[in-house]
Amino acid sequence: MKKKEFKTESKKILNMMINSIYTNEEIFLRELISNASDALDKLYYRSLTDKKLDIKKEDLKIKVSFDKDARLITVSDNGIGMTKEELENNLGTIARSGSELFKLQHEKDEKIDIIGQFGVGFYSSFMVSDKVSVLSRSIDSDKAFLWESEGVDGYTISDADMDSNGTVITLHIKEDLENHQYSEYLDEYNLERIIKKYSDYITYPIMMDKEVDKKIEEQTINSMVPIWKKDKKDVKDEDYNNFYKDRYYDYDNPLHIIKSKVEGLVTYDALLFIPSHATSDYYTKEYEKGLELFSKGVLITNKCSDLLPDYFSFVKGVVDSEDIDLNISRETLQKNHQVKSIARSIESKIKKELLELLKEKREDYEKFFKEFGNGIKYGIYSSFGMNKELLQDLLMFTSSHEDKLTTLAEYKERIKDDNNKIYYAAGESIDKLKNMPQVENLIDKGIEVLFLTDYLDEFTIKTMNKFEELEFVNALDEKQDEETDEIKKLNEDNKELLNLMKDTVGIKGVKFSDNLKNHPVSLISEGELSLEMEKVLKAMPNANGVEASKVLLININHPVYKKIVSLHNNGESDKLKDYSKVLYNMALLINGLSVTNPNELTNIVCDMISKE
Ligand code: ADP
Repeated sequence: MKKKEFKTESKKILNMMINSIYTNEEIFLRELISNASDALDKLYYRSLTDKKLDIKKEDLKIKVSFDKDARLITVSDNGIGMTKEELENNLGTIARSGSELFKLQHEKDEKIDIIGQFGVGFYSSFMVSDKVSVLSRSIDSDKAFLWESEGVDGYTISDADMDSNGTVITLHIKEDLENHQYSEYLDEYNLERIIKKYSDYITYPIMMDKEVDKKIEEQTINSMVPIWKKDKKDVKDEDYNNFYKDRYYDYDNPLHIIKSKVEGLVTYDALLFIPSHATSDYYTKEYEKGLELFSKGVLITNKCSDLLPDYFSFVKGVVDSEDIDLNISRETLQKNHQVKSIARSIESKIKKELLELLKEKREDYEKFFKEFGNGIKYGIYSSFGMNKELLQDLLMFTSSHEDKLTTLAEYKERIKDDNNKIYYAAGESIDKLKNMPQVENLIDKGIEVLFLTDYLDEFTIKTMNKFEELEFVNALDEKQDEETDEIKKLNEDNKELLNLMKDTVGIKGVKFSDNLKNHPVSLISEGELSLEMEKVLKAMPNANGVEASKVLLININHPVYKKIVSLHNNGESDKLKDYSKVLYNMALLINGLSVTNPNELTNIVCDMISKE
């Protein structure tokens, strides 16, 4: 019989499985049982809509047996089974979990402790076996097939016999090595221990033949109560963590676990997790939000996106509700009232838990916000403020108060006097923002300023408009109100000079200022669009022509001021025009924008240097 080759990626994973010895290789059994349970789920789910199938839930079973002398372990199920094509496609190609692992291996380029970090699927059998065979008959076929493989060389598929649908997986356990006893798996107590440890919550009975009073008796090994149905006090944190890591392919423990049992208008159990970090695909288009949805322990869909709003899309977990009809089709889930009210209830639960985390475990919350805060901001911004009330208390920004993250409520508490404003400055780094003259001035006066360094920050704040009764005020806009009479008069008296400069650089205005500390010049914007928003918009495609209305400020306490006035008084307008351009470009740079015409600027400056 002709051997077929595995796909390249599959081969590499297989190689890793075969050639490495892992500390907890025992999880091979968990993987096989979990596949069997999926196959039973699929069959049961099908039977609910396909009336020709007469399937009773209590008949669906998984059986684990072993033969010590022949060195065999078998895991069988009477689930949906596989056709010849499915055997080929499912077992000849690397499965999702495997490719996930493969990516990780590549990124880090180092041996990682695979097991316990990832579900590695069917291929993990090769950690303990030198030959694996899969006998299977699909519910859609009366023919059975046998898939066999001794590892990387490839696999064969041949015709076989089987009375009914299901799958029997047989592992030929490796011979013992001097320092590695594979025989330990050919032992009743050990197998039972492994099943209890990893597969206790599987909702179908996992049977083993056991000797009781010298007679062989079939017994159920698992308790069949899913972990989310168990009482919180009966489950160790470690068990929740392991469940999370296995199920959602994370190698870190979750940051926070939410266990919720709700009875009332809707009844459901939820076990939710807030991951400790965003997965590599989280901020990509491929990421799909959603929770697993069960009805009385039977899986309805493994990604019900309607249960989670976009701004909480980082949450993973399980919802189990007897109110959801098992027969519900995936298409009608969206319109289902129960699903909607569970979603609402979950949304407020998640918010409540996050606020509690903020209160009780500040560090964890900050970690969470750094990872997932953008989703929350986007939730406010993209809904044009509709979700403001719901989400505003979850926001954090870095503040000039101790340079730490703060919530808006905390800012409010620290406001002195009857100032009804929240000041902010937007820019690419805190250091740059702190050096802005307008910001320095506010901080010197004891006013707290929020540093908005994330590109979504200012949009979020503009969308919100206010936090409770407090108005958001851009620090750069603030100073205009404070122009002294003296400066006003100076600007009036020098109108001609200032207009000449303004027309030369082509902006909204040029003004003198006594508020710039040591900076020769600065820029402010007048109007809705701030300098920072201009930067963000300019970075987007097709954003030609977006410009903030800029006003150039010139420091009257800086020597450049005197120079400009004297050039003007002496009628040296060519020089004045050149200097205006240089000063404007310096101001652009100070404010983190790029110069408009680098060639012209270079020519002017080089000209000045040559004449020096
Ligand atoms: P994963 O379970 O992560 O998809 P596996 O490598 O463990 O990856 O399995 C690959 C596929 O083979 C499964 O998705 C499933 O379609 C099929 N399969 C495995 N075991 C069984 C089984 N006992 N019954 C039916 N199909 C199975």
